[in-house]
Amino acid sequence: MRSTDVRRLAALAVLAVLVAAVLPWVTRSAEEKRLYVFTPAGISSISITDQDRHEYIALQDLLPNLGQVGIRRERDVVRLRVGAVEGEFRDGRNRFRIGKMQVESALKVRIDESGRVLVPLDLLPEIIKQYTGAEPELRLASHKLYLRGVAQYVSIELRRTDPSTLVLTFPVAVSPNITNEGGRVRLSFTHEPVLMSADRIDYQDKLIQSIAFSEPNGASEITVQGAAPLLTGFSEGGRVITLSAAPAPPKIAQAPAQPPPSTSPIAAPVTPGRLPATASPGLPETPLPVHGVVPFFVMIDPGHGGDDSGARFSEKFQEKDVTLAIARRLRAELQDRGITAVLLRDSDTTLPLEQRAEGANLRRAGMFISLHAGGPGVGVRVYTALVPPADPKVREQAGPFIPWQSVHAAFLDKSRVLGEQMVSELAGRKVDAQLMPASIAPLSRVASPAVALEVAPPRDNPSLDGLNAPAYQQAVAQAAAAAVVGALAHMLEEHK
Ligand SMILES: [Zn+2]
Repeated sequence: MRSTDVRRLAALAVLAVLVAAVLPWVTRSAEEKRLYVFTPAGISSISITDQDRHEYIALQDLLPNLGQVGIRRERDVVRLRVGAVEGEFRDGRNRFRIGKMQVESALKVRIDESGRVLVPLDLLPEIIKQYTGAEPELRLASHKLYLRGVAQYVSIELRRTDPSTLVLTFPVAVSPNITNEGGRVRLSFTHEPVLMSADRIDYQDKLIQSIAFSEPNGASEITVQGAAPLLTGFSEGGRVITLSAAPAPPKIAQAPAQPPPSTSPIAAPVTPGRLPATASPGLPETPLPVHGVVPFFVMIDPGHGGDDSGARFSEKFQEKDVTLAIARRLRAELQDRGITAVLLRDSDTTLPLEQRAEGANLRRAGMFISLHAGGPGVGVRVYTALVPPADPKVREQAGPFIPWQSVHAAFLDKSRVLGEQMVSELAGRKVDAQLMPASIAPLSRVASPAVALEVAPPRDNPSLDGLNAPAYQQAVAQAAAAAVVGALAHMLEEHK
């Protein structure tokens, strides 16, 4: 992608993020029913109409997915051809012909004024088989139609280690939205034709209790229920998702600063000009936005600093230095991709936690990435905030003010998108990565999509040298920058 494209993307992303901030609680109008058609070229959806209290679709909407379509209408007969095979349909009949085959139907075929041939949904497999010779897979309850060879079945293996690990293997790389709360992990696939051959499997296992499949609104959803919090990991370039026991809370979950009372507004009026006197001297002196829209930029938060050294790996080697080194690499990688990045501290200064969120919010950062280093294990843990989801009622009562605790709730979904992009970009660079929610200051107070990365040494050199290796830090920074670009593209896609 050229950097001008990225800039345009970034500018549009500002709009997307603003729209996203305003719209989550606007109720959607009742959506019309649609049939989702999965083809090798992608997904399309066609409208479902009710005829005599049964669900019908227009064949003219479906057939272009099967091949070259020809249409002829003579009085009360409509002939629809796909390739060399012609079908013949008449209004109000319980039978029709495709090729040489007569097909009987319990429900009547309808032809509307514009000559569209309306057929009941449950006839589609037979119709497609007569036209193409191939049998598709129709999921009536979820309104999904998979043309031949498109459905991707997940294979499931419970590895009975202690504790157990559940391994989900997909035919191709997948990128689900992941929600993870209290032992329940939900993988939601909106663009991928993922299927499970059973609707539910219950395990006699201490950790993994069950895995279930559902298909809400054209999506596929896999829900894994654990007896304890679960970790989600990607490997094999995104083809394999592993669910395992989450370790004890990591040390980066610093004691959060005492939150102000819930009535405390964050949406205090922003006065144009420089930062208010309360801001830390460590903050870079960028002017505050004067108008409603600021150019998109990423705020990078190098963890710790000054009096707070973070983890002391050795006498000279401290966490605060590692986070700053990775932060600077990340800034350079983002700038290479045409994205502005600002460090909350660019020197060894003390910066209290609450000022980190405040610094990002006052400048209206478009994204927030907090960096920590060390921690148990190897690779990178990607954290999203652990906050209750946005509640429209609370939001309404709060008027123009948002309670502190809810600041980040409206951005959680986008934070997860960013986190998933991080995990898959890291995995693509052979860095072990896991995504999990955690109560980490200052994420829950950041008014933008936000993640924290805890960078542990690489698997192939699990030592301080490994953590400090420029090539490793660079790989992490490159993955994070690529993830920002990926997340922006994803958000734009959603708001098209
Ligand atoms: Zn830390």
